[in-house]
Amino acid sequence: MKAPRDSQRQKIYDSEPSHKRGKRFRNIHEIQEFVDFIIASVWYSKYKIPVMGWRYNSFGMDVCVDNIEVRDGRGRRRATGFRTEYKKGVIKLPRQFRNMLIILHEIAHVIQTQLPYHGPQFARIYLDLAQAFAEKKVAGNLENAFKRNRVKYD
Ligand SMILES: [Zn+2]
Repeated sequence: MKAPRDSQRQKIYDSEPSHKRGKRFRNIHEIQEFVDFIIASVWYSKYKIPVMGWRYNSFGMDVCVDNIEVRDGRGRRRATGFRTEYKKGVIKLPRQFRNMLIILHEIAHVIQTQLPYHGPQFARIYLDLAQAFAEKKVAGNLENAFKRNRVKYD
């Protein structure tokens, strides 16, 4: 079966300009600590993945990822995040992508359950993560950019 066209990808990228990506992290170790902090949080344990097409606040799925390994992404041109095996995922972050928004973007890829990769479900999870864990201003900028760029996220 053909995967649905990832038509929002560029709109998402346009919504995260490099000067508005929030805190820069110094190294992979620091990012791993932050990712572990998210996974151990009460927010994460209670978070319901929006099932798009339904009213997700009344019907959502538990997150079923309890371990995300952070790797340095050496030699890659982009950051990436994906599920590897049952309940586990990996994010790879080349040096220029070691900042708040891109980390949350890649975590959203690990926990999403619906395609397209940058579709409405992904966008909603990404924004929810930003509102819960990014600096207020950074999360606000992201939501405004989603609106401006007509990203579908609910
Ligand atoms: Zn992406």
